[in-house]
Amino acid sequence: MRFKFTDYHVHTKPWSVDVAEEGPTFEDYIRVAEEQQINVCFLDHYELHYVENDKTNPFYNGKIDDYLEEIDIYKETYDFILSGLEVDYYKDKEIKLMEFMDDYGEELDFIGGSIHEWIIGYPITTKAGLTKLLEKLPMRQIIDDYFELSTKMINSQIFKNICHIDTIFRYINNNEFIPTDDCDISHDRVIDLGRLCIKNRIKIELNLSGLRFPIKRTFPSMDVMKQLKKEGAGFFVGSDSHSLDYFKDKIPKLIDAYKLLNQI
Ligand SMILES: [Zn+2]
Ligand SMILES: [Zn+2]
Repeated sequence: MRFKFTDYHVHTKPWSVDVAEEGPTFEDYIRVAEEQQINVCFLDHYELHYVENDKTNPFYNGKIDDYLEEIDIYKETYDFILSGLEVDYYKDKEIKLMEFMDDYGEELDFIGGSIHEWIIGYPITTKAGLTKLLEKLPMRQIIDDYFELSTKMINSQIFKNICHIDTIFRYINNNEFIPTDDCDISHDRVIDLGRLCIKNRIKIELNLSGLRFPIKRTFPSMDVMKQLKKEGAGFFVGSDSHSLDYFKDKIPKLIDAYKLLNQI
């Protein structure tokens, strides 16, 4: 890697379905990253359920090989890019996920494990998905289920890196979907997840995406990050960009975050 700092989490068009039609391509990120002197890791969504069942998914039918080939071509010219994937965890697909990691773990420079939805069609990371889920289940249970599943994901040791560890609070917080009194939204349970990562030697993302939502904080929060870093956690930083403007805008924050992490 040519530069000192790395943004480990950016999404591209056409590989991530939640990037807009006119959204950034590999080349767009490469241009800005070179200009701003940071390394960039492409971390497009790889959601096994959709990869297997949805013909419109960019990775359907083995297209991952095209993805890797395309990145490899850019790598011949640019020494500051990494190939990666943000892979969704499903508790009933652990074997398949392990097989995937066996097949592609070495081919990719970086893989981050993530949770976006556990009931298919009800992602907690979109407002519409969470709204639908809240019509089905009490908020308290949704939060508890998220933490239970995250614990399972970490203990499965399928992933060496975990993305946005407390993303359940992207919309559930005092600025948006206000937590009901019976909800446990304490820092402690996020710290417990982080401690499990330390125990399993899993790196934790400091994800900057919360800064574009009303919660206006990183995932996990800076306080939780500091605590976990003191206890020995390893961190990587990701902007979770879905647009070029956000990517560009967050570069100073990303550099500050790495400097802070180095001081703790
Ligand atoms: Zn994500
Ligand atoms: Zn992401």
